[in-house]
Amino acid sequence: KPRVRFAPSPTGDLHVGNARTALFNWLYARHYGGRLILRIEDTDRERTTKAFEDNLIEDLKWLTLDWDEGPEKGGFLGPYRQSDRLDLYDVFLKKLIQEEMVYPCYCTEEELELERTALLSRKIAPRYLGKCRNLTLKERGRLEAQGRKPAYRFKVQPGPIAFPDQIRGPMKFEGEAIGDFIIVRSNGIPAYNFAVVIDDHFMEISTVIRGEDHLSNTAIQLMLYEALGFAPPQFAHHALILGRDRTKLSKRHGSVSVREFREQGILPEALLNYLALLGGSLGEGREVCSVDELVAAFSLDRAGKSGAVFDEDKLVWLNSLYIHNASSEDLKNRLWPFILKTGYDPALMDLQWLEGMVAAVQPNLARLSDIGPYLAMFVNEGFPLEEQALALLREKDSQAVLQALLKLVEEGGNGADDYPQLMRQLRSITSVKGKGLFMPVRAALTGSIRGPELDKIFSLLEKQEILARLRRALS
Ligand code: GLU
Repeated sequence: KPRVRFAPSPTGDLHVGNARTALFNWLYARHYGGRLILRIEDTDRERTTKAFEDNLIEDLKWLTLDWDEGPEKGGFLGPYRQSDRLDLYDVFLKKLIQEEMVYPCYCTEEELELERTALLSRKIAPRYLGKCRNLTLKERGRLEAQGRKPAYRFKVQPGPIAFPDQIRGPMKFEGEAIGDFIIVRSNGIPAYNFAVVIDDHFMEISTVIRGEDHLSNTAIQLMLYEALGFAPPQFAHHALILGRDRTKLSKRHGSVSVREFREQGILPEALLNYLALLGGSLGEGREVCSVDELVAAFSLDRAGKSGAVFDEDKLVWLNSLYIHNASSEDLKNRLWPFILKTGYDPALMDLQWLEGMVAAVQPNLARLSDIGPYLAMFVNEGFPLEEQALALLREKDSQAVLQALLKLVEEGGNGADDYPQLMRQLRSITSVKGKGLFMPVRAALTGSIRGPELDKIFSLLEKQEILARLRRALS
């Protein structure tokens, strides 16, 4: 049974790119009946926070991506937080020191920086040139006497490092291009590449699925697998999500975190569907897919083969499909927090009215947060008038239509009971039909030239409110 893992570093909000990695791992585990492990990679002490970890877990749960082993959840091969595994890393550091596969390096940050700039100025890709590799015991002793604490570096051997990538095919790196890398920092904290190899080995990970930004790390990790005598897992590196300028998607492209999309009222199903769809990972012609269908159709080979530009409009379009297809009960429950956010308390509102309102605007919602402006439209007395609506209302023909409607409503019903009848009367009095008739009425009652169907609008507004709005449009 395959074992895969999602190994986020809690140093920021969950990025959609990382959410996609989590999704691929989750789909892989569910498709093949394997297990998904959540591992928290919190060795970067400066940037890691508990709040980010909590948010990360909350966001994964919101996405309905569950895992079989992890912090809190537990499992036989834990602990699942790297900060709880430091003793284990230490054992293997000692082993590698003893076998002389690593050596202490006393270079300071400043010295390393000087080396890097010197190489760059000669147009050579910066890498550690091995200054401390052949220090004598005496030299080491002298440096330690200065109070320097060593980092530990791995002795990279020349020669090719090749591996078959499950998505990208055969991959090859040259040892010569890789400088001796740090496996444990001078503060005793293991470097990512060292911790990850020990963890993936002891957590019995069979396939590592992650973004292609980790490809060169894989070469480094393979050297460590060999040095430690561990059999390496299989690797699959998926292409990354790109911004419109085809660089890696980042904050400067707009919203990028799962949290931001959630707060805007993107549904988790829509976000998952979109992330799975990106880059043609669903195959030709498939767009809307339920989570079950995604599990059934998943193929590592297809997943994230090519880089794809993140298109927020497409995500919102998918989201609107999910909203339009939701049952009214389900939609109402999901809208609740968004209604609360607008300052209205749904518990204090007429529930039946609220349900009617939700049903009326359902076809017009693209995001759940769109409920806010609609609520304002129906509930506020001083609701805003959009520019286009205002222009339309100023036209003479519009004024004539509204004048006639005002009279009809004053004399008769509010249109809720017999909307078609009301409109027939209005048409025969004014001799205006179609858009010329409906648009000014819509603009006067909602302040907008787009929105829910007119008969629903009539049924959601009380007679007094309709009269007030017509008068305002006529004034
Ligand atoms: N903590 C690493 C990251 O967030 C994990 C990379 C990996 O999957 O090995 O990028």
